[in-house]
Amino acid sequence: MMLKETSRKNAVHIMLVYTGGCNGCDIEVVNAVLSPFYDLEQYKVMLTWNPREADILAVTGPVTKKIAPALKEIYDAIPEPKLVAAIGACATVGGPYANLGGDLGSSDQIIGGVEKVIPVDAKLPGCPPRPEDILQVVASVIPLLAEKR
Ligand code: SF4
Repeated sequence: MMLKETSRKNAVHIMLVYTGGCNGCDIEVVNAVLSPFYDLEQYKVMLTWNPREADILAVTGPVTKKIAPALKEIYDAIPEPKLVAAIGACATVGGPYANLGGDLGSSDQIIGGVEKVIPVDAKLPGCPPRPEDILQVVASVIPLLAEKR
C-alpha cells in the first residue's frame, strides 16, 4: 500500500482509453508518451492500462452507446485525485462520426464527446492532434493534479 502511494506521488500515470474512432489519435498519444523522441518517461510520466494506477484518463474517439457504460466504469475505478483529457475532435465533440450514417457508424449509435458521460478537465481538438499538442495538454493538467494531491 505504501509503495503504491509513494509511486502515485512521484509519478504521473496516464491511462489511454479508445472509445471507437479510427485509431489516429491513439497512435499520436502513444507516440507522444512512449516514443524515445519525446521520452516523457524521463519526467516520470508513464502509460498504464490499469485504472487503479492511473492519474490522468486520456480518452480518444467518439463515445458510442456501447462503450459508454465501460468508460464510466473505468472512470469510477480510477482513484482520486484524477483528471480526464479528451484528445481529438471525436473525443471532444464526436468528430466526423457524429454525422455518419449507414453501417460505418450510424449517428444514433454515437453519444458524442466524452463529457456527455464523464467530467472532462482538458480538451484538445484536432484530427488527429500533433504529439506536441498532446504533450502540452498533459503538461497543462499536471499542475491541477498536483493541487489536488
Ligand atoms: S479525431 Fe480524427 S484521428 Fe482522432 S479518432 Fe477521430 S477521426 Fe480518428
